[in-house]
Amino acid sequence: MAEGLFIVTGGSKGIGQAIAAELVQKGREVVCLSRSGAGPVGQHMACDMTDEAAVRDSIAKIAAQGPIAGLVNNAGVHVGGSADTLSVADFNRTMALNATAVMVAARETFPFLRERGGTIVNIGSFFDRMGAPDNLAYCASKAAVAAMTRVMAVEWARHGIAVVNVAPGYIETDLNRDFLAREKVRAWMKSRIPTGGPGKPEDVARLVGALLTAAIPFLTGETIYIDGAQGINH
Ligand code: NDP
Repeated sequence: MAEGLFIVTGGSKGIGQAIAAELVQKGREVVCLSRSGAGPVGQHMACDMTDEAAVRDSIAKIAAQGPIAGLVNNAGVHVGGSADTLSVADFNRTMALNATAVMVAARETFPFLRERGGTIVNIGSFFDRMGAPDNLAYCASKAAVAAMTRVMAVEWARHGIAVVNVAPGYIETDLNRDFLAREKVRAWMKSRIPTGGPGKPEDVARLVGALLTAAIPFLTGETIYIDGAQGINH
C-alpha cells in the first residue's frame, strides 16, 4: 500500500487510541478526529462526527496535508434501551454516530482514496448478529455498519479500496468499564468467553493495524469477529 495518512475517528481514547498507537508504532502518520480533539498519540483535530459539514471540512483539511492511505471509522456510542421502551431520540442518537457518521466519513474520504487506493476499516460489533436484550439501537447500528461495509466494498473495489468491518466482542474501555467491573458480570464473562474474559483495546488495534498496512485488496466486504470466540460459543 502507498504511504500516507491514516484517519482514526474517536482516537482520543479506548480502542481508537490503541489503533492510533499501533499505527504510530508501525511508523505511520495518524490524524485522530474526536469531539475533544485531544489524545496522547498522533495528530488530533476536534470534530463531532455527527456534524456532516464538520466531517467534510476536517477530511478536506487532512487531505491538504498529504495523501490519505486509509480511514478507521471507530467513534461510537452505546445507548441502552429495549424494544418496548426505546425512545426515538435514543435510537437516532445511536444511529447518528454509529451508522450515519460511518457513511459520511467514508463518502467524504472516498475522493481522496480513489486515485491511489487504500483501506477503510469500520469498527462494528459482534452484537451485529446478536439479539442482545436492552440493546436494540446498538445492535441495529452495528448491523448497519456490516451492511454498509459490504456495499462500499463492492462499489469501490475497482478503485483499489478495501473495506472491512472489524467486529469486536467485549473490550474493556470507558464505554463499559463500570458494567464489566460488576461481580456478576465478571463471572458471566468468564463462563461465556472461551478465552477467559474481555479483550484489550490492543487486541483490536493489532488486527486493525495489520489490515491497514498489509494491503490485501482481495480481503474486502467481510466482517471479522474478534471476540474470544464468544459469538460462536454454544
Ligand atoms: P470509548 O467510549 O472508550 O471511546 C469512544 C471514542 O469516540 C472517544 O475517542 C470519543 O472521543 C469518540 N467520540 C464519541 N462521540 C463522538 C462524536 N460525536 N464525534 C467524534 N468522536 C466521538 O469507546 P470504545 O473505545 O470502547 O469504542 C470504540 C468503538 O468500538 C465504538 O464504535 C464501539 O461501538 C466499538 N466497540 C466497542 C466494544 C467494547 O467492548 N468497548 C465492543 C464492540 C465494539 P470524544 O469523547 O473526545 O469525542
